[in-house]
Formats: sequence, C-alpha cells, structure tokens
Amino acid sequence: MSTTRHNWTKEEILDIYNKPLMELLYEAATVHRKNHDPNTVQVSTLVSIKTGGCSEDCGYCPQAARYSTGIEGNDLMSVPHVKAQALRAKESGSSRVCMGAAWRNVKDGPEFDQVLEMVRTINKLDMEVCCTLGMVTENQAKRLSEAGLYAYNHNLDTSEDYYKDVISTRAFEDRLETINHVRQSNITVCSGGIIGMGEKLEDRAGMLVALSSLNPQPESTPINALVAVEGTPMEDIEPIEIWEMIRMVAATRIVMPETQVRLSAGRTEMSREGQALCFFAGANSIFAGDKLLTTPNPDVNEDMAMFEVLGLNPQKPFTKSAQPKTVEAEDSKFESLSEKPKWTRPGHTIERNELAKQKAKLNG
Ligand code: SF4
Repeated sequence: MSTTRHNWTKEEILDIYNKPLMELLYEAATVHRKNHDPNTVQVSTLVSIKTGGCSEDCGYCPQAARYSTGIEGNDLMSVPHVKAQALRAKESGSSRVCMGAAWRNVKDGPEFDQVLEMVRTINKLDMEVCCTLGMVTENQAKRLSEAGLYAYNHNLDTSEDYYKDVISTRAFEDRLETINHVRQSNITVCSGGIIGMGEKLEDRAGMLVALSSLNPQPESTPINALVAVEGTPMEDIEPIEIWEMIRMVAATRIVMPETQVRLSAGRTEMSREGQALCFFAGANSIFAGDKLLTTPNPDVNEDMAMFEVLGLNPQKPFTKSAQPKTVEAEDSKFESLSEKPKWTRPGHTIERNELAKQKAKLNG
C-alpha cells in the first residue's frame, strides 16, 4: 500500500527544507532509495515545436510576444522535422521527447491535428511522448491520449500566492483545471515549477503543498532554476545558489516519494558536483539537449560523461507505466469540438511585467 501523503502543510515542508543540510540529504536519499533505483536517471529531450510569439505575460519567459528578448520565433514544425529530432534524441539516450509549443491554450484545428500526428509518430518510435501546449480541455486531452501521449506537462510554476506576481493573463486555478483534464484522460501528469523568481521560501513550500496534494501526485516534477533572460521582467534577478536547488530537490523527493524529480532549466550554471548532490537528494531525471526551448542547456556528450563519472544509467522508456496504444486519425472516437473555452484572464497589473512591455515598445 502506498504511504504517499497528500496533506503536507506549508510549515512541515518548511521544516524539511530548512533542516541541517546533511540531515536533509540523508532523509531525502533514504526516501529515494526506497522508491527508485538510485543509479538510474530518466533522460528527456525538449523540442520547441512552435517558438515565440506567445500572448501570455509570464514574467520569466522570453517567448512572450510582449517582451523584447531577441529570440527567433518559428511556426509549427513539420511532422518529419520533429521525427528527425526524436530519432536523434533516441540515439543519444533519451527515452522521452517533450514537445513544447508557445501557446496560451490548444485550439482545435489543423495545427492541433498536426501535433496529434507528431504524437502518433513519436509513440511509434517506442519513445515516451510528452507535450506542453498550454491549457487543454478534457476533449483535447482525450484526443492526445488516444494518439498515444504518455505525459502532459503543465507547471504550477510557483505558489498560488506568488502566481499573481508572475502572470496576469491566467489564474492558478486554470492550471489545476488543465491538470485535472489530463488526469481524467489517463495521461501521466508532469508538473513542477521554477525557483529563484524572487519568491519567498514559503512560496516554494506552497508550491509543494499544491503539487503533493494532487491525488495521484504528478508522475514527474521538473524543478527549474530561473534563467534570467534580458528583456524579460525578471532580467535583473540574481541566480540562486546551488544549495537552494539541492534543498528544493530534497524537499520535493520527501513529499513526493514516487515522483520522478527532474533537474530542468538552470543546469548550465551547476557544477557536476552540484548536480551529483541533486541526484543524491533524489533528482532522477534531466532534460538533455543543448537548448531548453530557448535557454542554454549542457551538451548531450557532457551529460553522458557525467553519467559515466557518477555511474548513472539512462532509464529505459515505459519503465514506470505501459506504452499507450496509438489510434490512427481515421479511427478516432473523439471529434474536434471547435471549443472556445473561457479560460480566466485576471488582467491585474504586475509592475515589472508592465515595465518590460514598455521597454520593448520603446526598443521597437
Ligand atoms: S511560459 Fe508558456 S505560456 Fe508563458 S509566455 Fe512562455 S510560452 Fe507563453
């Protein structure tokens, strides 16, 4: 019987987070060993299938159209292009391809049909397929599931309290609703967040309360460190120290014992020793590839050399859950409903987001 708890309080999580480091590491590593093979790390490759031009105002994101960050936008990639990238990822040891599109939400139509075809194609390569496409309705999640989607990523980003200081174009509850739609569709849930955005420790704990109270808990949780990109509202925030990342990974491992905890953005700033401590503290997944959507990431060869030094092995696909079956488009049970869901638009003002927008306008 699972001993996973869904009623962690913020105070309990703060007590864990703030323990003397050696005790925290020992406790987290003990939980990790009870629930996972400590020498296996799952490797995912992130492919940006549609970059930039996003209508949202996430304060950390260089892909928001309203900020001037100099990234090159792309239209939706073709299916053969994505297939070629997936094959390359497979050859270099990735078991999962995560396709990211800079969309507020999925819209029924030819572009979504193209994404469904990408899902079918990659599932047939016997790789786990994950998508991160913004908010989805239940019908859209069911169509993704039918195409063979293994996981859907939808991060909570931070605590419910701090969320309104980061994003004004959608609400925290919308995130939970999409996660619920994913869960109802038998797709595994990938949800985590970002630290180092100027939040308090209480917010980090608050995010873990929200994630751990989901029942079941997410199958994977990315922990990102902010990569402050010039032109975004958070451009001037100093990077966090490695110790904060280690503490966050350890706390996540303790409150979500069965989840795969993924070291995500910010790895280029971490030494091998720092990453080793994160693996010891319970991280058991990484993003591979030289770019994470638009921000830099360690080279695949560097990662494989690190695995060699640490004696780590990449996890095989479908180790944790069975491979979904792909239903072809012509046999689909779910039609496009051409839905126009009314996702929330709180529209409150976030001063630093407004300033970054004005600066972008001045820069033309
Ligand atoms: S994080 Fe996603 S939703 Fe937010 S601005 Fe970037 S691409 Fe858009």
